[in-house]
Amino acid sequence: MTLAERARRVIPGGVNSGQRSIPGFTDLVIARTRGSRFWDQHGREFTDYHAAFGPAVLGHNDPDVAAATAEAGTTLALAGVGVTEAEVALAEELTALVPSLEKVLLTSTGSEATFHALRVARAATGRDLVVKFQGCYHGWHDAVSLNVISAPERVGTKDPTSTGILAPVLDATLVLPFNDPEAVRRVFAEHGRDIAAVILEPVPHNVGALLPTDTFLRTLREECTKAGTVLVFDEVITGFRHGLGGYQEICGITPDLTTLGKAIANGAPIGALGGRADLMDLFSTRPGGPAFFAGTYNGHPQVVAAALATLRKLREEPVHEHIYRLGARARDGLAALYRELDVPAVVTGFGSVFVTYFMDGPAPLTYDDLLANDAARFIGVRRALTDHGIFELPLNLKRSHVSYAHTDDDIDRLLEATAKAVRTVL
Ligand code: PLP
Repeated sequence: MTLAERARRVIPGGVNSGQRSIPGFTDLVIARTRGSRFWDQHGREFTDYHAAFGPAVLGHNDPDVAAATAEAGTTLALAGVGVTEAEVALAEELTALVPSLEKVLLTSTGSEATFHALRVARAATGRDLVVKFQGCYHGWHDAVSLNVISAPERVGTKDPTSTGILAPVLDATLVLPFNDPEAVRRVFAEHGRDIAAVILEPVPHNVGALLPTDTFLRTLREECTKAGTVLVFDEVITGFRHGLGGYQEICGITPDLTTLGKAIANGAPIGALGGRADLMDLFSTRPGGPAFFAGTYNGHPQVVAAALATLRKLREEPVHEHIYRLGARARDGLAALYRELDVPAVVTGFGSVFVTYFMDGPAPLTYDDLLANDAARFIGVRRALTDHGIFELPLNLKRSHVSYAHTDDDIDRLLEATAKAVRTVL
């Protein structure tokens, strides 16, 4: 029996997270990772542009992060009481770097961070409704488990990603099209007094990359301020990958709350929720307080050590310069390739993130625009790339990432392999 078959006997679906099981790759067992690479159980080497959905901004097994984690592992275990010096240092660093963060709490995942953002927004406002956008993903919990990648006929309706969610919870989440300021104004005109929070990925990378218009972000900020609604930027992907101050520093719009995760600790399990002190202070340390917050593993010493080591490297080395340059090389090179082959393709992204949609331009702004993407070709090219040792996740609309460990040679190989792979699927 293969390892993957053994896995399916004892793990539902054979994997520990949705979307790790990929049609056609059901026997994929990861044996080793290093830098820009991973190896499977058969010793096959892949240059990894999936990057575990994004955390590995420095590359896998970064030696400085690994050393800091190991050191913490031998000197400081989780005591589960009080606070550690490292937690204070990390909170000071996060609040100094990210514009909206006056105070911050650590979680173990991004889902916990978005859960608590909505909880405290409801606690602060005494309101029920939450607004999210089609195409944005904010984790697995009920309030946000809807309308991420929806089939065309489900767009414009409630499209839960799971059964088992209570109807009143789905009713309390309103779904709007991204980049549509008119829809935002309309929902506030109708429901403004009942909207506790608006949550969005400022760049919806869970469907590749939809770049936000300035008008859209400004409208959100204005309407939330007018209505007393809490504006939440979910920067779990964009935070620290796109810059030390997150996308909010780049776009110049400051939300009330920000959720972070992934790249903070280069792959160690972390999330963070921060923002206005008056909101964050509603989190009581006692059950029954205005908003309850807890988690056995929050601020785990090894994870905090990984985060401090990652942030030090992001500050002290030209990480962003490198990953932005390689990201641009990948986008420009791929766009030129598809032009040369006369294949309708839009290559877009931001910084270290790139994605090719198989459709005519211009770059998509809304989820509806993405419905023109040829999903079979999107997946087909990525499947063919694995035959050339390149791993871009073969699932529709998934983005790819460059890390500090990727090199110019890696990008050359990506372009060469793509040229070959595309010819086999056209
Ligand atoms: N928010 C965004 C934007 C994400 O992409 C994700 C995960 O992919 C989450 C929240 C949830 O984070 P986690 O998987 O750590 O719970």
